[in-house]
Amino acid sequence: MDLAARLKLEIYSRRDDLVALTQDLIRIPTLNPPGRHYLEICEYLADRLGARGFATELIRAQDAPGDSERYPRWNLIARIEGARVGECVHFNSHHDVVEVGHGWTRDPFGAEIEGDRIYGRGACDMKGGLAASVIAAEAFLAVCPDFAGTIEISATADEETGGYGGVAYLATQGRFDPARVQHVIIPEPLHKDQICLGHRGVWWAEIETMGRIAHGSMPFLGDSAIRHMGAVLAEMEETLYPLLLGKRTEMPVIPEGARASTLNINSIHGGEAEQEADYTGLPAPCVADRCRIVIDRRFLIEEDLAEVKAEITALMERVKVRRPTFRYEIRDLFEVQPSMTEHDAPVVRSTAAAIEAVLGREAAYVVSPGTYDQKHIDRIGRLKNCIAYGPGLLELAHQPDEWVGITDMADSAKVMALVLAELLTP
Ligand SMILES: [Zn+2]
Repeated sequence: MDLAARLKLEIYSRRDDLVALTQDLIRIPTLNPPGRHYLEICEYLADRLGARGFATELIRAQDAPGDSERYPRWNLIARIEGARVGECVHFNSHHDVVEVGHGWTRDPFGAEIEGDRIYGRGACDMKGGLAASVIAAEAFLAVCPDFAGTIEISATADEETGGYGGVAYLATQGRFDPARVQHVIIPEPLHKDQICLGHRGVWWAEIETMGRIAHGSMPFLGDSAIRHMGAVLAEMEETLYPLLLGKRTEMPVIPEGARASTLNINSIHGGEAEQEADYTGLPAPCVADRCRIVIDRRFLIEEDLAEVKAEITALMERVKVRRPTFRYEIRDLFEVQPSMTEHDAPVVRSTAAAIEAVLGREAAYVVSPGTYDQKHIDRIGRLKNCIAYGPGLLELAHQPDEWVGITDMADSAKVMALVLAELLTP
């Protein structure tokens, strides 16, 4: 039997283990925010991988955003070296999950099985992918104990809240230095036949318009910041949204709608602050002297961040020409450059070949509409040879009744094991 067939068989024989591991991970409710049970899930994985010969390190992102004595930001890196020198393949999964939300018909942390599915918060995003990578590595080690190079598996904190207590922290510590790690696979739920090469860019900003407070019965004595903001929103509808729709990217972003530049207005707040829920009185009659929106602008690899920002400033200036008392401020909140790994990067080529060998069809190449931890590996770690590849349907992420397919996990594990064989058995 050839190596690929032996690896596939090995993973087939570990199907029950794959299911049990996924269930165990789902049952540790690593909710973020605030960041619960991080140590528990890292210790669970350290015990498992330590028993299989990995050297394990628990690393706390001390003083990272969100880190506290109550909710420490724990990360795990497990590393195993082969019999000969070679390159390092690193599987990185985030271990945090988002809030449960409403609308569930299953226990979100029960890891119930029905048919080919395991249900639970984080099943698809991304404990199923994490489990698949662990099984892939363990199966590979059983079949190829004399491999060349190194396998690393990390379980990291806080991807759902920016990754600063996780991959960003580890990258700052040199853990994704290209001298140390040569290939990174992030098993996010992009589906088992797709390779995610990167993501669009992000700019979040807060825009504030300023007015002057006055009695609501004599609004002409004040200056309404809400009306100013209304003019901003109208200008966006008239000029900015059509402009953004016309900007198309060559990046294979999915879904199709995200192949244009997009702008979301995350929130709007103007005038009197909202009172506590138990306040039973009426609001006061005042002209709003402040109005704020938070914008979420996703930009394309063909766009320049400075131009993206200048577009908004130009829009505000157009409004100002028509409104003599118009004053505004723009504050940057967050920004990420777009990232796209080359099609011919080694990790891309070997994953594409493995997908074809396991699934009998060509791999599809996609780019994510939103960002994930690849941004830190690329920007801080300076490591370009990085993709997202893993089981699960992206549409199910963060939804009620989230699930991951058992066959999908097993197929992805086969692909990952074949990638290890390709890169670590020269
Ligand atoms: Zn995720």
